[in-house]
Amino acid sequence: MRRLITPWLPLLLLVGVVIATELLLFEEVQRQKSLTKQNLISHAGEIRALLESELNSSIHLATGMVSYIQAKNGHYEKDEIQVWMHNLQKSETNIRNIAIAPGNRIHLVAPLQGNESVIGLYYPDNPAQWPAVQKIIQSKTAALAGPFELKQGGLGLAYRVPVFINNNEYWGLVSTVLDVKSVFSKVTKRASELKMNIGLQDLEASTSDANLSSSKIIWSSGKTEFDDSVALNIDVPGRNLKLLSQYSEYETSAWLTWGIRLIGWTIGALLSFLLARIIRSYRLQSIAAIALNESREQFMRAFTTAPQGMALLSIKGRWLNINPTLLAILGYTEEEMHDISSDSLAPELHVEHLLKHWRHQDNNSLQYEIALQRKDESYVTCLISIALIEGRKLEQGYWIFQVIDMSARIAAETKLQDSAEYTQAILDNVADGIVSTNLQGEIKSINPAALAIWKIPEFNFIPYNFFSRLYRDDNLKVREQLEHFLEGCEMLRPGQIPTLNIESNITDAIGNQVDIEISVTATERKDHVELIFVVRDISARKQLELMQSEFVSIVSHELRTPLTSIIGSLRLMEGGVFGKLPDALDKMIRIALQNGQQLALIINDILDMDKLAAGKMEFTIQEHHIRELLAQAMETNQSYAKQYQVKFVLESEHDYRIRCDGQRFQQIMSNLLSNAAKYSKPDSHIDIRLTPHENTLEIAVCDYGEGIPIQFQDKIFKKFSQVDGSSTRKKGGTGLGLSICKEMVQRMEGEIGFSSEEGVGSTFYFRLPLIKESSVA
Ligand code: ADP
Repeated sequence: MRRLITPWLPLLLLVGVVIATELLLFEEVQRQKSLTKQNLISHAGEIRALLESELNSSIHLATGMVSYIQAKNGHYEKDEIQVWMHNLQKSETNIRNIAIAPGNRIHLVAPLQGNESVIGLYYPDNPAQWPAVQKIIQSKTAALAGPFELKQGGLGLAYRVPVFINNNEYWGLVSTVLDVKSVFSKVTKRASELKMNIGLQDLEASTSDANLSSSKIIWSSGKTEFDDSVALNIDVPGRNLKLLSQYSEYETSAWLTWGIRLIGWTIGALLSFLLARIIRSYRLQSIAAIALNESREQFMRAFTTAPQGMALLSIKGRWLNINPTLLAILGYTEEEMHDISSDSLAPELHVEHLLKHWRHQDNNSLQYEIALQRKDESYVTCLISIALIEGRKLEQGYWIFQVIDMSARIAAETKLQDSAEYTQAILDNVADGIVSTNLQGEIKSINPAALAIWKIPEFNFIPYNFFSRLYRDDNLKVREQLEHFLEGCEMLRPGQIPTLNIESNITDAIGNQVDIEISVTATERKDHVELIFVVRDISARKQLELMQSEFVSIVSHELRTPLTSIIGSLRLMEGGVFGKLPDALDKMIRIALQNGQQLALIINDILDMDKLAAGKMEFTIQEHHIRELLAQAMETNQSYAKQYQVKFVLESEHDYRIRCDGQRFQQIMSNLLSNAAKYSKPDSHIDIRLTPHENTLEIAVCDYGEGIPIQFQDKIFKKFSQVDGSSTRKKGGTGLGLSICKEMVQRMEGEIGFSSEEGVGSTFYFRLPLIKESSVA
């Protein structure tokens, strides 16, 4: 309710003041009016007395003349009366002329000059004057007539006295014409002195004078409207006249009224304006107070729920407020905190010390990283920021503390540092070179092993692009592979980029050729991609491989020549060149021949491997019908089937055309079929299956033999690997067959693989390019 009324208060005040002003004004006007009226009455009385005396003094002069005529019984001496009239007219300035009209005809007039025309005027002939004259004759009383326009000019009043002689016998008229201007001059003068406007009202105007019959006001000193006037009767013979009086400057009081009104209203407006301002400032103040309260509440809410410790400390060192986080950091309750001083947490927090520092610093707050003593006397390292909130007086100010417990962060940092040191130690001591770079090849980190490979000091290594150090200028292949990898890094996300494994060779700082194996991975680091190079010096291994290969090649060649002649000789013997041999010798020769052929196979394998490794094996890729190739393979290896009592079964009825080297195909099939036969149980069958894929044909050889142990499966295509590598192994072989197969399949743009379960069997398959539309039934 109060809220509703308050905005209207200034308006109400304005209305109130205006009403009060109007009331006051009304009363004042009434008072003024009554005062004015009293004055007016008294002034009007004075004017009336003056007017009556002016009129009557002139009128009564005629009385003497009338008495004279009556005394002479109407027979006056013309000369005598003429002198008298003349003197009379001269002495009384109000009188314009005096006329004597015996028998109603003007006989004498004084002064004669200027009035000659009226001599002989007969009243009954003058319709303008005769009714009035008739009236006074009948009433036998004198009467004042006019005012009216005089023939001689100006306004005049006529005082006519009917003269009766000898027992009321009518004789004639004595008429005195008064000059209106002269009669009223004193009255007008006095009225103007009194600032009055006066007028004469004839109550019988319509009958008394034809000229003024339209108005009752027969004369006035100024205005002819008398709205608020005083009317007094005038005592003149034969007339019922009233004197109307009013103040001529009555208007000025209207100005006064408006002046007072204006002042009143202005005061009202000013007061309401003031009140509005006061209400507004009061409202603003209360809004500000509410906002202050709200912000105080928000601060307190933030204060209590802040994740960091907060406290307010008076300038004299009294704790005003401590938030729960700070209490938890320090281990005190709020009551206990009030009993301890700030410097008992840390000497730096002594209030005087704080004040001194505050005055000598330019920042917005004091910052300390100090150990605070907790309740249990342990220390907690905290980052403290302290600011002084200054009041109007120094004592009204207070310190605001923000405390962040750093112990967890410090512990984490220490742990991180430990782990970084640990990682660094690994990097420093690992045998492989580890280098990290950005995508432009700028080195970010390098370990001692990497520096040892190139034999270049770190300061000389880091400024140069690392990529160019990874290959010799003539090694275009490595360069291409690396560029291809970097292109992939630009386009793909690090997780999608496969690790690049390549072999390369470099020249170290001393000029030695170093064979290296490089493994590159892309990793995401913050906002950029980083490359991690693991570089291994494989010079020694390469050397060994070379030696091994050379040795094998030499040995094989050296063995093959004599072996060929041995086998030839044995064949001749077996063929009966020397006639029929004794049974025991024949058997021995047959065993020798079998072992010799086995040995030749091994040597051939070794030489094939050697050729493949040196890239010297020739491939003639042509189109072949698979069924033809498989028929030949089954026939060639029929001896194995027989030996191990197994049966080759071609499952597929379809024929396909593939691209391959026919001779190498047979070599691969021989290896797979002989292995399958070797490791199958007697009387089992070996299935040959064809499965077309999108662009390749899969040829699979499935056996149901002993299978390959799981731990051996990842080595199966490596050179010289055999499940049973012991010297007492039952099956023959070099452990080279499958690795030769893999090389050859890859050369023919195919791939090779297997699946096997120990005790169940194995399936070896290889895929070669398929000529699609060639599929025939
Ligand atoms: P090898 O000349 O010794 O047969 P391979 O490279 O052909 O050499 O085979 C390597 C080894 O893989 C064999 O010694 C054998 O242990 C195992 N192996 C190959 N094929 C089969 C198979 N079908 N079943 C079981 N083991 C097999």
